[in-house]
Amino acid sequence: MIRALYIGRFQPYHNGHQYVIEHIAREADELVIGIGSAQLSHEPADPFTAGERMLMITRALQMIKKPVYVIPLEDINRNALWVSHVRAMTPPFHQIYSGNPLVIRLFHEAGITVLTPAMYERATLSGTTIRERMICGNNWEDLVPAPVYQVIQEIDGVSRVQALARDDMTCPEDGEYAAC
Ligand code: ATP
Ligand code: MG
Repeated sequence: MIRALYIGRFQPYHNGHQYVIEHIAREADELVIGIGSAQLSHEPADPFTAGERMLMITRALQMIKKPVYVIPLEDINRNALWVSHVRAMTPPFHQIYSGNPLVIRLFHEAGITVLTPAMYERATLSGTTIRERMICGNNWEDLVPAPVYQVIQEIDGVSRVQALARDDMTCPEDGEYAAC
């Protein structure tokens, strides 16, 4: 029995995350999704609450016929202790999937198997790009699963992201967005 962990901030949850999780769901028997920086919301790079992100993820994963545990993880701002913090908050897991270099390093040092999924259409599928598109009034709806679009509509998420935008942000004229 393999229980796998996947951690992200999911600001918002998008099709790249969905692609990775569908891949993990084929390899693992149970999934644990950790919502990182859970204490943050209403900030330009972290507009949505942990509860809103939980709603996005659980609705988008309804078709997965395996147990899925979605767990908010607050920052502790102490990297050397972070893996212990994550383990204290999550069901026991056997392996973690991550593309984040710090996450990879910390779990590797703790002796936990880390698998790195390939990036999927990263030029468009990034939280940073999606938030920029929301601010600039460009199409973002196709970059997230339909249930996530519905949640963002329900919570009036686009107007929140626009209201939080930095004054000095400029929208790209040619529709080109930098992947971050
Ligand atoms: P942001 O731009 O706000 O940092 P993000 O798209 O990087 O958003 P995160 O929540 O930071 O999303 O990432 C969570 C995990 O998802 C990380 O391990 C990251 O490598 C992975 N990930 C993000 N985008 C993709 C993608 N397009 N394909 C595959 N994995 C992705
Ligand atoms: Mg990121």
